[in-house]
Amino acid sequence: MKDKVQNEGVNAEFALKETADMFVSMFESMDNEYMKERAADIRDVTKRVISHLLGVEIPNPSMISEEVVIIAEDLTPSDTAQLNRQFVKGFTTDIGGRTSHSAIMARSMEIPAVVGTKEARSRISNGTMVIVDGLDGEVIIDPSEETIAEYRSKQEQYAQQKIEWAKLVNESTVTKDGVHVELAANIGTPEDVKGVLENGGEGVGLYRTEFLYMGRDQLPTEEEQFTAYKTVLQKMEGKPVVVRTLDIGGDKELPYLHLPKEMNPFLGFRAIRLCLEEQDIFRTQLRALLRASTFGNLKIMFPMIATLQEFRSAKSILLEEKEKLVSEGTEVAGDIEIGIMVEIPSTAVLADVFAKEVDFFSIGTNDLIQYTMAADRMNERVSYLYQPYNPAILRLVSNVIDAAHKEGKWAGMCGEMAGDPIAIPILLGLGLDEFSMSATSILPARSQIKELSKEDIQRFKEEILSMGTTEEVVELVKEKFNV
Ligand code: PEP
Ligand code: MG
Repeated sequence: MKDKVQNEGVNAEFALKETADMFVSMFESMDNEYMKERAADIRDVTKRVISHLLGVEIPNPSMISEEVVIIAEDLTPSDTAQLNRQFVKGFTTDIGGRTSHSAIMARSMEIPAVVGTKEARSRISNGTMVIVDGLDGEVIIDPSEETIAEYRSKQEQYAQQKIEWAKLVNESTVTKDGVHVELAANIGTPEDVKGVLENGGEGVGLYRTEFLYMGRDQLPTEEEQFTAYKTVLQKMEGKPVVVRTLDIGGDKELPYLHLPKEMNPFLGFRAIRLCLEEQDIFRTQLRALLRASTFGNLKIMFPMIATLQEFRSAKSILLEEKEKLVSEGTEVAGDIEIGIMVEIPSTAVLADVFAKEVDFFSIGTNDLIQYTMAADRMNERVSYLYQPYNPAILRLVSNVIDAAHKEGKWAGMCGEMAGDPIAIPILLGLGLDEFSMSATSILPARSQIKELSKEDIQRFKEEILSMGTTEEVVELVKEKFNV
């Protein structure tokens, strides 16, 4: 390292990083598991020394031990997962949108958050009093006594509202005209199941397994994954659990995979694209899932399917692993449904053809909207284009639901739109069978659906689908369905 600085004219930080990287690859290529893991120690120490050399402090969100509001430029999904809600009373980020994974996680952790503020970080300094209103997306800096009192009463009203919602926890979700829909939850870890049950979830509609792979230095083993999947299935006691295979990429990175940086990560080598190429990773996950399948009601779902060929390849790999396990004498459930996320417009358009081969669809509007509107879901500057109620999106959603029903299959939705009070009446009218959302949105959604009649809404289906703008749709929903 010293030689590098003296002979190559580089600075100490650069020399340290290069030397450390060399040792990291050396340790990583060792056969012994224990020695392999030491690579992580070198990475950690290097990061610390570099931060001292640069004179910057590395913030560690998991170390926060006093009540704070975090004002950050951005929080990665793994930063957010480490927040302790006992101390973190709220957060704001300058970048990001409603469907950034940090925002999605805040919703299920019940941490008030406002993302995409553009400027909160430059306007708020340490020690300033702020109110983070996650319901209306507002950040109030240095509030007056009057505003504080106003918000205390808003807080109290919300707490009261929650007591009312809690009464619905053991009820099923039936409309005024007797139609049952399933309200399921999106989870990221086995620990999240507690919240699903406390909030009356009728199933897990999306288990984002990538969190098992994040916040660590190497891939989880088959055994670790098996334990996680089995735990979720057992805790859900026979209720449906839709597990999505690895969807890494976009805003969810795995540094230890050392994937090359891409110009457009959301359009790049991610999710099923990566799994079909890096088959060891995929097969390990599938084996763990298949082994866990006898412990509950498992359904397997592939993310980011753009072509029928991708679905066929993923399914055949799954069936190969199943056959291998069975021939080794391992028990595997016989009736596992295999479905796909519909989050790419090509698949939404071709849904009638897909419906002949898949067992179910789950519409991933977080991505479907960004790809249809060509508006990055993380980019606050184009957030005005991020329009769930745009008739173009609604027509795609309707096409997917109709295609599923024509083949006798079911259609769910696991994007954030499924829990949105303005979208709920529309989706009910379009015939959606399963709504999967943050656990904390389930009871409000149930309370809303109980007051709606599917038949009434269906009378407006054609009118809504032939509208031209988001605003027209919202106006009709607000006027007719009491939102
Ligand atoms: C989606 O795209 O709607 C979805 C549910 O998946 P994710 O938010 O994890 O991309
Ligand atoms: Mg997605």
